[in-house]
Amino acid sequence: MIILNKDRKFPDNMVNAHTLLLKAKRGEKGNSKSTRYAVPAFNVTTFQGINAVIKACELLGSSGLLAFSNSALKHIGDGDQTFALELLSGYIEKKAHRTSVKIATHLDHGDYITEPGRKVLQSSIRYLTSVMADNSTDHINKRAMPLKDNIDLTREVVNMAHPLGLSVEGELGVLAGEEDEDTKSEFSTYTNADELEQFLNETGVLMLAPTIGTMHGPNKGKPGQKVKLNIALAHELLGLANKINDELVFVAHGASTLYPNIVEYAVDKLKMLKNTNGVITKWQEFVGTDWDQIESLIEAGFCKINTDTENRQTFLSALLGAITGNGAKIDIRYYDNISTDALTQSYIQKLIMSGNYGVWHEPKINVEKFKFNLNQGVGEVIHAAS
Ligand SMILES: [Zn+2]
Repeated sequence: MIILNKDRKFPDNMVNAHTLLLKAKRGEKGNSKSTRYAVPAFNVTTFQGINAVIKACELLGSSGLLAFSNSALKHIGDGDQTFALELLSGYIEKKAHRTSVKIATHLDHGDYITEPGRKVLQSSIRYLTSVMADNSTDHINKRAMPLKDNIDLTREVVNMAHPLGLSVEGELGVLAGEEDEDTKSEFSTYTNADELEQFLNETGVLMLAPTIGTMHGPNKGKPGQKVKLNIALAHELLGLANKINDELVFVAHGASTLYPNIVEYAVDKLKMLKNTNGVITKWQEFVGTDWDQIESLIEAGFCKINTDTENRQTFLSALLGAITGNGAKIDIRYYDNISTDALTQSYIQKLIMSGNYGVWHEPKINVEKFKFNLNQGVGEVIHAAS
């Protein structure tokens, strides 16, 4: 088994994701020990998103985890994922150099099954600090991969990444829902305990995404019907994993919870526009996972929670507010500032909820006083909480 090279020096303030997650699992903040917390992995698709995540982390002294999906890389690189990785790593390294916190960059849902997947994964190993090797599902042929293939392919990635100091996240089981075009699945399976032991022992991954009932995307259940996670299974699997290696950390995919005040804000703004009844109904039917269930996962030891939907919703809500409030303003910077401010607030909110603050320095605001409010800019909200 290939051990993670902990001596690799990344550029200033850049670290692999596992370093941040292990601190979270052990409740380490500064020089003291607190209770366990989680590091939200923010799926970022634009440079605006990167700016917002880093700003939120700096304000709170949080560990920062920027995740990029295949389709985000396609978007940023105008179809060329390797070029996107080159651009992103340069940009993030320059920003990280000036920051007061630690940042990890992670490939979300990379795979080593397909030829294009392999290419992106290999480029990511060159440019990022952490990769996911999701070999549990063949998304092109819509089938679960045999366990042996998942293990063999994931081990290949570990063998490439661990010597270079990059952490690897594996996936065991099939997750339902649709995050973007790369991860759509109509079926799901729970992670099996016997398979878990074999997978961990034979791949050497230190980060694992088991499937315990979470779903991708903004529609995690039927309207009015809550998503139910299998918390007992989560505990059982973590118990087994800890016996194998107490440095193993678990990852919750599809951990988005909706912000009711943001949904309300969007619906209010949509009501000011014509012919939006169908859109309003869709907003009202979005179903997230209840935060208390995600909290139980964090308490159990899930240290990386993947969130995206609520941040996307916040971004769009802020734009709706800007357009209905001042749509004659012809200035790209105006809308850029409003939506970046909104994203920053969304990230601050999630970092506070996850307990991920005061890790690298004391928060610059009073986290108890922070109130997520799209009627105010991030500057006003910060001022009110200081
Ligand atoms: Zn995912």
